[in-house]
Amino acid sequence: MAVALVNGRVLGEAGFLEGRAVLLEGDRIEDVVPDDDPRCARAEQRDLGGCLLLPGFVDTQVNGGGGVLFNAEPSVAAIRAIGRAHRRFGTTGFLPTLISDDLDVVARALEAVRSAMDAGVPGVLGIHIEGPYLNVARKGVHNSKKLRGLDESAIGLLTSLGRGRTLVTLAPEMTTPGIISKLSSAGVVVSAGHTNATYGEIRAALGHGLTGFTHLFNAMSQLTGRAPGVVGAALEDPESWCGIIVDGRHVDPAVLRIALRCKRHDRFMLVTDAMPSVGAAEKSFSLQGRMISVSDGVLVDEEGTLAGSDTDMATTVRNAIALLGLDLPEAARMASRYPAEFLGLGGELGRIAPRYRANLVLVDDQIAVRETWIDGCASGLEPGDQQVPEPPRRLG
Ligand SMILES: [Zn+2]
Repeated sequence: MAVALVNGRVLGEAGFLEGRAVLLEGDRIEDVVPDDDPRCARAEQRDLGGCLLLPGFVDTQVNGGGGVLFNAEPSVAAIRAIGRAHRRFGTTGFLPTLISDDLDVVARALEAVRSAMDAGVPGVLGIHIEGPYLNVARKGVHNSKKLRGLDESAIGLLTSLGRGRTLVTLAPEMTTPGIISKLSSAGVVVSAGHTNATYGEIRAALGHGLTGFTHLFNAMSQLTGRAPGVVGAALEDPESWCGIIVDGRHVDPAVLRIALRCKRHDRFMLVTDAMPSVGAAEKSFSLQGRMISVSDGVLVDEEGTLAGSDTDMATTVRNAIALLGLDLPEAARMASRYPAEFLGLGGELGRIAPRYRANLVLVDDQIAVRETWIDGCASGLEPGDQQVPEPPRRLG
């Protein structure tokens, strides 16, 4: 039986629509219709209580959540636990993200994602392999002993998922434009990150299939007067997508506001870069033998190096409004439609429109998550799962 989501404010192409119902049939959105459409009366009705219905959030960078780190447990159970933790914050699509590790761990992670997708684990869209093909000069919290160059021998591994999307973050200077071309031609989404590349090296990579920049500004060569660097190439290029961490700490909000003036907003996507502490009471964990803990609101290792974030998507959307001056519709698109388009999934995810997958998030006016749907299935959030938003953290 069809389900009619009624009495909500529905995010459409030109802002929020009132007096509309969203009809779901199976895993798809059948139509968006006036509340008095006869099909609503025939459907099982769900009253949204005047809350805001948004496309479900798509997070392309999720290292962990719910106390689980993907690197430590590259398994179906871990992916399920991470997805469940993030779903409470509105994420209905995500890429489990593996940071630099040995190639046998990369292979196990690919196998886990393959099995998770085949088992229908809610929300998993593929995998993000962030390293080990990174530059030690911009390693951030990645383990320098795991880093390596990327030659032909790795192409088979990186193209082996066979379903969903594979996103690979690499340092273009650790490989060749020809290999970037081969990955891209095989359907891999290639993003530059943890890279000390020159502007010229990035321009060459952009001409050979590079389409993204991983956590723009963090762990990359910066824009300076005589060296535009990775940041300069990213901001100048009109087509590529930039992932941004909007926790008020990874990047000064003023710097992100400047970035938003440089290229189209639909080329930015909100990412969490979340770690196991998101959706968990425990705020420290072990990363490849090193202790990571929350200090002054950010995750750091013993040396104080940033180690992912303790932020969820709903908080990130609130931060994008409070710190970047975006309105809710644009912040929501940056959390759903634009990352879906980056992944080549813009025809099925990121919009509340006929034939799109029924991946939705219901939020109140404070952007606290009330309910989510993944492929038409409501989560049935329990009262304790509803999140009371904290005010956005500002730079001290
Ligand atoms: Zn990173």
